[in-house]
Order: sequence, then structure tokens, then C-alpha cells
Amino acid sequence: MPKVIVIGAGFGGIAASLRLKKKGYDVEIVDQCLDIGGRAQVYESQGYKFDAGPTVLTATFLFDELFKLFGKHIDDYITIKSLNPWYQFIFPDGRKFNYGGSTEEILCEIEKFNPADKVNYLNLLKESKKIFKIAFEDLSAEPFHNFIKMASVSHHLVTLKSYRSVWSFISSHIKDPFLRQAFSIQPLLVGGNPFDTTSIYSLIHYLETKWGIHFAIGGTGALLKGFKKLMLEEGIKLTLNTSVQEIIIENGFAKGIRTKDKKIMNADIIISNTDAAFLYKNLIKKKHQSISAKLKVKFARYSMGLFVLYFGTSKKYKHIEHHTIWLGKRYKELLSDIFNHKTLAEDFSLYLHRPTATDPSFAPDDCDSFYVLAPVPNLQASINWNEEGPKLRSRIIKALDETILPGLAESIKVDFYKTPEDFQTDYCSVYGAGFSIAPLLSQSAWFRFHNKAEGIANLYLVGAGTHPGAGLPGVLCSAKVVDSLINAA
Ligand SMILES: Cc1cc2nc3c(=O)[nH]c(=O)nc-3n(C[C@H](O)[C@H](O)[C@H](O)COP(=O)(O)OP(=O)(O)OC[C@H]3O[C@@H](n4cnc5c(N)ncnc54)[C@H](O)[C@@H]3O)c2cc1C
Repeated sequence: MPKVIVIGAGFGGIAASLRLKKKGYDVEIVDQCLDIGGRAQVYESQGYKFDAGPTVLTATFLFDELFKLFGKHIDDYITIKSLNPWYQFIFPDGRKFNYGGSTEEILCEIEKFNPADKVNYLNLLKESKKIFKIAFEDLSAEPFHNFIKMASVSHHLVTLKSYRSVWSFISSHIKDPFLRQAFSIQPLLVGGNPFDTTSIYSLIHYLETKWGIHFAIGGTGALLKGFKKLMLEEGIKLTLNTSVQEIIIENGFAKGIRTKDKKIMNADIIISNTDAAFLYKNLIKKKHQSISAKLKVKFARYSMGLFVLYFGTSKKYKHIEHHTIWLGKRYKELLSDIFNHKTLAEDFSLYLHRPTATDPSFAPDDCDSFYVLAPVPNLQASINWNEEGPKLRSRIIKALDETILPGLAESIKVDFYKTPEDFQTDYCSVYGAGFSIAPLLSQSAWFRFHNKAEGIANLYLVGAGTHPGAGLPGVLCSAKVVDSLINAA
């Protein structure tokens, strides 16, 4: 059987490996981490468990599909539960907005803020559905390495007014200033500033109403355990704790990889699930790269960094929902500090994950497990994280203690955090960006890193930096694109 090496066991790499296995290839995944999952590692400490990265599951049929390839059923591997609300927004004046459930439930919540926005929301949803139909249903799993393809869909981009930002799209519908924030934060979930991200990402609204928001019992780590079992059952080889240093290229063909300990592994096809910019910057010698790939790396604009604080408490905060978005007083200005000025502000907005709201196995009895995430500038900013990390930790704990988690400071039993520097080291993320390159129109479809490497015949790319983009639905679709580009063995 011809051999495929997949570099990286993130969700994109996992999905690509299963798809290529189904096509009849001998597949081996090589990853530097100790377990599969990429950014979705799992940490355990003193009886508390923490999913390190993705926590919000949607479009779960994309997971099912991978089991169905082998005539298997996801329910035999993992239990997935739907959540309601999807997220609870908490605004600086203390008001709460429960987002999720049925359209009627969402309209009831909107009524509390601005009754006129009920009809505006319904119009927003109609527009979001139009974007979804083209951008997700028709194009998210289509290859875009060919400019003719790009040219053939450009009229859609104009019809959908994709040159607008998400913020401008939302503001053209919703009038309440708080609801405008709640409905425009979605680009942050894939690494973009709502004021710059193409309004194509407003498809997320319809996508969430169509498929809801889910949680895997046992967490994203349990979902990964299910995938690991499937991969091993199907004979995919996992080589972990192994860093790849070079892709060996001869006469425009990728021949194999060289690992950090100088081992050479040959392959007929290589699929890279490393951060796409990292691949071109570090794993392929410049002489083998096309000018277009070099230009993309040179002019790429990256997503923001993330400061993620994991903590376990000695008590339960039963009033806190599974997913909370805690908004600070500044919105546009804070985003501008993070994305444009690249300064670490004193204030922040936060995403708080409380898996124990759904699954008590994440913490000892009567305790809670949390992670709190603050978008911060990536490593293009000059921030000394050794100094700023502990200070930001204290500011976040103080803010939560004084608002929604009273007594937090005294109840923390265990805590640790990740800064953009850790994202750079742990996941080879260029500038420690949380989500690879940003979801801008100028970095979408043909303008994003292609799923077929530029100038190298048998090298393919999956994952957040490639088409269609970051987030679990995005990277799972990128594996479908690669699947469509490679013939059966
Ligand atoms: C904190 C956080 C929360 C998130 N929350 C959500 C969410 O709730 N829902 C959602 O849908 N998305 C979420 N995302 C986004 C989502 O997790 C990512 O977009 C997605 O997981 C990226 O998958 P990937 O396939 O690109 O690979 P990655 O997860 O980036 O994995 C790539 C792997 O390749 C390895 N690698 C890289 N270079 C090498 C090398 N040279 N040698 C060996 N191995 C290498 C890396 O170590 C890594 O293990 C979140 C992301 C973060 C960081």
C-alpha cells in the first residue's frame, strides 16, 4: 500500500488520516505532543480535569461522518449531549442574555433588551442562512488552489457582500448596543476581530441554530479517545512525541520527513497539519517554495493570541452556565488594542468554561473545574509574558471574584495558565497565534494557504491555516478538501 505521513494530530490531521485510510493508504501520523488532538490536549491535576482547547461542538455530523466511513457509529464510542443555553452573555451592567435553544427562546431573551430587535434578529437569521448555503454547504469542502475556481465563485462573494465586516453586517440588523456585541463576537471563536473579519463568518448564526451546541460527555478529550480507538482499530499508526524538522523534497516531489532525532521516514504522500505558515517558514527549504507561497507567508496577518487560565475550585458555582461570555466595558477599543495596537490592556473580556455544569467527572465532588480565556495580542507584540502572565492571572481572578464567582480567590485549589509563548512552543504556532492566520477576506479561499502545496506535487495541507479556516467544523472540512484532491490508493 502506498504510504501517507500526516504531520500533526490536530482534528484536521486526524480527519485526513481517517479519510486516507479509507482510500486504501498505509497511514502514519507523526506529532510532537504526547497525545493526539493538537490544541485539544487534556490536562489533569489533583483530581481536576481540563480540556485545554476546543469546548464548543457544533455541526457534529462532521464527526459522525468519519465513523461512518468505516461502517461504524459514533454513539458506540462517545456520548454527545446538546446544551441550552449555548452561551450565557454577561454584560458589564450585570444583565444576562441567554443565547440558544429554539428561535422562540432566543426572541424571548431579545425582548428583554430591545423588543424591536426581535424582527431584526429574524431578518439577520434569513441573511445568515443565505451566506451559510453558499459559503458552508457549497464551498467549505471545495478545493480553492486553482484561481479559475476562485474566479467562478467571485460573483457570490459580491452578492453576499462579503467585503463587509461581521460588525457591519450585525449592526445593519441589530440596534441594541449590547446585543450587537453578543451577535458579533463569533469571529473571535476562529481568531478574527469582528470589525475586520469578512461577514461570511456570520454564517455561524444559522449554523448554530441548525445544529445547536453540544458537549461530549468526558469532554473533548473523550471525543479524542473515541477517535484514537477508531484510528487504532483501522490500523493507523500513531508516532507521538516526535518533532518533524524537515520535509525532504526532490525534483518537486515530497519524498519523506526528517525528524528532530535525524530519523528519515519515507512516504508517497505527505499531509501537513502543522500551522500552514510554520510549514513554509520552517519545514520546507526556500528553494522548493513557489513565489506565491513565499508572498503569503510574508504578508500574512495572524489571529490574536490567547491567555488561558485553568483552575479548579473547592466549591461549586451552580449558577454559572457551561459556556459564559463575560464582556468588559470596552468592546471596539479593546479589540483594537489586541489586533491593531498590539498592546496588553489592563481590562479584558472573557470566555469561561465550566464543564462541571454538564459533567461532574471533571472535578472532585462538590468542586468545579474551569478555564477562562482572554484574547490577547499575539507574539508580534513585545510583551514580556514572564512578567505579565502572573499579573494578568491576578487581574482576571480579581475581576471574576468581584462579579460572578464570589470567593474565587480563596477557593482555588489548583491553577496554571498558557500564554502565546506556550502556543508557539507546544503547537508550532507562528507568533503564538491561537487560530493560525486571521479570517480576513484577503486570506480566504484562494487567498488562504492552499490545501495542495504550491510548487510541490504530493504535499497537501489540512488545518486552521488552510481553506476553509479555523474551528473544528473548518478543519474537519479542510480534510474533506484534501480527500477530494487525492485519488484512491
Ligand atoms: C483555547 C482554544 C479554544 C478553542 N475553542 C474552540 C471551540 O470551542 N470550538 C471550535 O470549534 N474550535 C475551537 N478552537 C479552535 C480549534 O481548536 C482549532 O481551530 C483546531 O483544533 C485546529 O486544528 P488543526 O487541525 O489546525 O490542528 P492543531 O490543533 O493546531 O494541531 C496541530 C498539531 O501538529 C503538531 N505539530 C506542528 N508542527 C509539528 C512538527 N513540526 N512536528 C510534529 N508535530 C507538529 C502540533 O504540536 C499539534 O499537535 C479553540 C482553540 C483554542 C486554542
